[in-house]
Amino acid sequence: MIKWFLFAQCHSESNMQTFPSQITQLNDIVAKHWGIRELRPLQEPAMCSVLEGRDSLVVMPTGGGKSLCFQAPAVLRGDTTVVISPLISLMKDQVDGLLASGISAIQLNSSQTAEERQQHERNILNGNVRLLFVSPERLVQADMQDLLRKIDVRTFAIDEAHCISHWGHDFRPEYRQMRMLKTIFPKASVHAYTATATQQVRTDIIQQLGLKDPSILVGNFDRANLSYRIISRRGGVLKQVLSVIDRHKKEGGIIYCIRRAEVDELTKDLKATGIKAMAYHAGMTAQERSQTQEAFSEEHCDVVVATVAFGMGIDRSNVRYVLHTAMPKSLEAYQQETGRAGRDGLEAECVLLHSGADVFTWKAIMQKAASEQNQGQYQYQENDHSYLETANEHLHLMDRYCRGAACRHALLVAHFGQTYGKDNCGACDICLGETVEVEGALIIAQKILSCVARLKEKYGIGYVAAVLRGENSQEIRARGGQSISTYGLLKEYHLNDLRDWMYQLISQEVLVQENVEYDSGRSVPILKLNGGSWQVMRGQRTNIRLLKPAERKKGERTKLSKAETGSWDGVDRDLFESMRELRRQIADARRVPPYIIFPDSTLRELARIRPSSLERMRMVSGIGDAKLRDLGQTFLDAVLSYSKATGASLDT
Ligand code: ADP
Ligand code: ZN
Repeated sequence: MIKWFLFAQCHSESNMQTFPSQITQLNDIVAKHWGIRELRPLQEPAMCSVLEGRDSLVVMPTGGGKSLCFQAPAVLRGDTTVVISPLISLMKDQVDGLLASGISAIQLNSSQTAEERQQHERNILNGNVRLLFVSPERLVQADMQDLLRKIDVRTFAIDEAHCISHWGHDFRPEYRQMRMLKTIFPKASVHAYTATATQQVRTDIIQQLGLKDPSILVGNFDRANLSYRIISRRGGVLKQVLSVIDRHKKEGGIIYCIRRAEVDELTKDLKATGIKAMAYHAGMTAQERSQTQEAFSEEHCDVVVATVAFGMGIDRSNVRYVLHTAMPKSLEAYQQETGRAGRDGLEAECVLLHSGADVFTWKAIMQKAASEQNQGQYQYQENDHSYLETANEHLHLMDRYCRGAACRHALLVAHFGQTYGKDNCGACDICLGETVEVEGALIIAQKILSCVARLKEKYGIGYVAAVLRGENSQEIRARGGQSISTYGLLKEYHLNDLRDWMYQLISQEVLVQENVEYDSGRSVPILKLNGGSWQVMRGQRTNIRLLKPAERKKGERTKLSKAETGSWDGVDRDLFESMRELRRQIADARRVPPYIIFPDSTLRELARIRPSSLERMRMVSGIGDAKLRDLGQTFLDAVLSYSKATGASLDT
């Protein structure tokens, strides 16, 4: 059972109280409209805050079910809750989802005609609207405020609330305007929702919004349905990328690269192998980007290769893998980007191809950006110097995470100040024994460092590795490498392993890589020693750890573990695929993303039990009354005809 952390309790000091009967009503509402039988632990207190009119800040990981926290109370209250969301596409998806569940919701935006707006306003004034979605820019306009005053709005829900903080990763200046909410609507309560975990951002949200005595609810940051693998990047990434895609045929995945050029190249290479990949980065036109985004969301394209520009607004809930071709720049970014996998609660895989060179790549990018300051993302930094320092700190923490030999789940939640309950997660490369510690790490480290010393700290990783392996190349002979005493000292190891280990020693701060400028203007990274290096060589420091991939039989590939495939147990895959196709057709016809029709978890459950009747279907999670009426018969027919054609039994 997942442990949740409650930093504030329901039924708190506020004037109003939530009565047990209201909790029962809430449960009835989520069952009726969403087909959800049980609230998650933090959802109930979050809903209580809304009902009690007490300000709140709710922090839950992506996929944790934040939207239900304000949607269900809106239905129970029967008045209008105003939801502020940063993107029109996000609002549209929520509105479509609510309408599909039989709840009246509308969105007001600038692209609507005067006629549409009047129609919407009439509905709002008549009190027919439970959830009203507006952008922050719209909210501050005088006519909008008049409208909201007329209906005496008592509840504001702010989605993606971290956008208000420049400490977060998605700062949006227009969110700052929401500071006025508590002044203009003094009787209303304001509820902020975010997945961003840092304390700094949380405090900032509360201050910026002027929340009064808010109940602060912070969920468990572990994403138990995600598995994490951090693998050493070997040469060109294509082969490693293909092996991940191979584990997820026909499934949705996002591949993150650091640079736009890498995105373009990898997309081209994937296409050449017959994979229908699409690119997404900020260098593309707005139209090209929305084409990719829509194709992915509508499940016409399964693989998107992107820079981090592909982020907020990805609504596809059945992303089954997120692959980083290089390390992201912070653990927060890693959590955020991997968080886009498995939003439907089903297992998903996160693979990071790591190299010790990644830190240097990021440093170069940041230096360049800082020197072009006051442009792009740096315009919000009050002090560039401290910004660079913090960014470096983030990089090093991320790098250390990649090289750590402990459970990835445990280290990640520890970074966010929580403790992880299990000894073995069963869902990371370390716990699965795919990455192991090297025996005799100290001696290997001593040999590497002595070689650097013998070479008088004049060479880079490639040359030092070649000398240690005893290579007999032209370059080695020309520089006299074969005549030093450490020549061939580690010849039994693979070149890639030696390179990785040198980077691992750098991150353990017993070896240093320094850029040396030559007269030609060329800058080359050279290995240098420091105090720690000498301590290791003299045996005064012994806590050196080195990692390598576990030995495998030739041709053997990484397979998904039991923990990563459990949700497929008993699922009839052919039926699942045919219902997925049916879902896509319905979604296309209605111009909504497929997950609005049913999430994958619902389709899998249907493909597991193969219901024979609407009554049986009604018990499946994710099928509420409205959807049963609307879609039940269509999907039931699909199950029945499949069963007839294949002889598969019903109601299993
Ligand atoms: P978030 O906004 O926190 O990323 P969402 O609100 O989009 O997450 O919810 C993610 C998914 O989880 C949705 O499909 C939602 O219907 C589902 N969900 C929410 N609460 C529950 C629950 N108590 N039980 C089962 N599914 C839930
Ligand atoms: Zn683990």
